[in-house]
Amino acid sequence: MKAFLDNVISLIYPERCLFCREVIPDQAGRPLCTACEKEFTPVGYLCPYCDFRLSPNACCICRPLQPSLHSLYALAIFERQWRHLLHNYKYYGRRSIGRPLGRWLGYELGALQVSLPDLVVPVPLHRDREKERGFNQSALIARHLAQTLAVEYYPLLFKHKKTLSQTALSRSDRQENIHEAFSLAGTVKKGLTVLLVDDIYTTGSTLREAAEVLHSHGALVHGAVVAYNPLIKN
Ligand SMILES: [Zn+2]
Ligand SMILES: [Zn+2]
Repeated sequence: MKAFLDNVISLIYPERCLFCREVIPDQAGRPLCTACEKEFTPVGYLCPYCDFRLSPNACCICRPLQPSLHSLYALAIFERQWRHLLHNYKYYGRRSIGRPLGRWLGYELGALQVSLPDLVVPVPLHRDREKERGFNQSALIARHLAQTLAVEYYPLLFKHKKTLSQTALSRSDRQENIHEAFSLAGTVKKGLTVLLVDDIYTTGSTLREAAEVLHSHGALVHGAVVAYNPLIKN
């Protein structure tokens, strides 16, 4: 029955290329048509402290001895059609974009054959912001990512501080704005490995601050984001 319903749904709402909207077969991989896929190369791993590009499992020379964020994976550079896509997703309630993005991120990480985390955790929104937006964009991505990797999803963090939007702030103001904004919403077993998920990574203040809470309770935290925005660096 479920297979039948899935077939009916895919006839009414066929899977489409995220960028040019061409109908594509429903698959767990990249949600792109053949032409758009040719244009796409994932960003991969970056140092969460200096943005230097790294190969999987590599450490950067600048890394602190006890990094709160152990690694960072980004799918794409935040440019051109990505700006449009993520803007529509976040601010125009196009929540259907969350599923292909989460599955895509999961597909790329799965293909790298790096060790899987125990838990996939989204960067939370303050409840007022989530109410206003109708959903947490990172949570939706994280859910589908977890499903793709067959790893447990759990919203282990809570955002208790109401912050300003980071978009218009400088690097130091971003840090100040997000400082001590998150708290734990569950228990962390020592040595737990967590994949912390967000939509966009700019200066990394948010992801590092969220990672710090998990790290200070004994977790090993990796980060995964859809888009890396290299433009604001001071
Ligand atoms: Zn396309
Ligand atoms: Zn570095």
